[in-house]
Amino acid sequence: MGYLIKLFSIHITDRCNLRCRYCYVEKRRKSMTWETVRKSIDFACSSQNVRIGAFGLFGGEPLLEWALIRKAVEYAEQKYGIRRFDIATNGLLLSREKILYFIEHNIAPAISVDGIGIAQDLNRVFGDGRGSFAILDKKLDILKGYMDALPKVEIIMSVSPGTVKHVSESIRYLLDKGIRGKVRFNVRPAISSMYEWDESSLLEYEKQLFLLGDIFLENYAQGKPINISPHEDQPVDNYLLKAIELKDSASCGMGREIMSVSIDGKIYPCYAFASCSKAGKDEFSLGDVSTDSMEEVLKKCTVYGNRHNACLSCLFWNWSENASLDEPLDVYREIYKSWLKVSAYVVRNIV
Ligand code: SF4
Repeated sequence: MGYLIKLFSIHITDRCNLRCRYCYVEKRRKSMTWETVRKSIDFACSSQNVRIGAFGLFGGEPLLEWALIRKAVEYAEQKYGIRRFDIATNGLLLSREKILYFIEHNIAPAISVDGIGIAQDLNRVFGDGRGSFAILDKKLDILKGYMDALPKVEIIMSVSPGTVKHVSESIRYLLDKGIRGKVRFNVRPAISSMYEWDESSLLEYEKQLFLLGDIFLENYAQGKPINISPHEDQPVDNYLLKAIELKDSASCGMGREIMSVSIDGKIYPCYAFASCSKAGKDEFSLGDVSTDSMEEVLKKCTVYGNRHNACLSCLFWNWSENASLDEPLDVYREIYKSWLKVSAYVVRNIV
């Protein structure tokens, strides 16, 4: 069977049509060259002992590089038989044709949607400050017709203190619109030095999570369970998993099960490190797709194994905000406690 990298991603461009207020992606208006894309795919597939679960295409806004994406997907399919791709997009350039291409090539979109108009337009804005809801909403109308045909869909909802009161209404809005079926709603706090997660915004967060619990229970009772999770593959994944297992199962797999390549071909233990501009990130570089082999890179990865409580948060944000991989952010700690309460509430009330 060999070693499985669940998600090997490339940071195909840092160009973006939005200027979200909490964005951490370095914007140099650069994209990967085809040469670096090809070398990244060759690197990922160079070892007989390593399997790639999914190949990720991240940005910036990757759909700005549609021709490059198609070339990468078709090269990876034809040369290495890769059959599963993930793409992270802000959704604004989606079209029927692109969605049909996703279906044909087993590409799962992860779409950033902060919610109803007032929530989306607060943080997900164009360079001139205009909100993006009106455009995105029309794209979701197209998407909803293909929910069953796509391999899966993830909706990433970044919640800030200014949008937290709209979370449950936003999830209801999306479900009522027809964004349901093979979808996971990934609701998580937006991290930025602009935001202060004070006691009242954390209380509101917990209140909204309980309302999400009620939405889950209503849908479950109608035979239509929905998947709402707090953060990546964390253990309260769909409310039904036991909450106590945090200690040993919380790791996202950074550097062991996920790996990412920056625009200039450097390999990092996750896509956040590959795309951010923060000074000091090179300390985490595991090599270069032009010069290093997968075997050499894998030897450097064990350091990023499960770090227990640190993984309550996100190791990238721990490092970025607290200057230590092992120091979880307070906001994550508090929100986890709330998720655990809500998980227990849902498990108690499920019929
Ligand atoms: S869409 Fe993504 S990459 Fe673009 S500005 Fe927003 S958060 Fe940053």
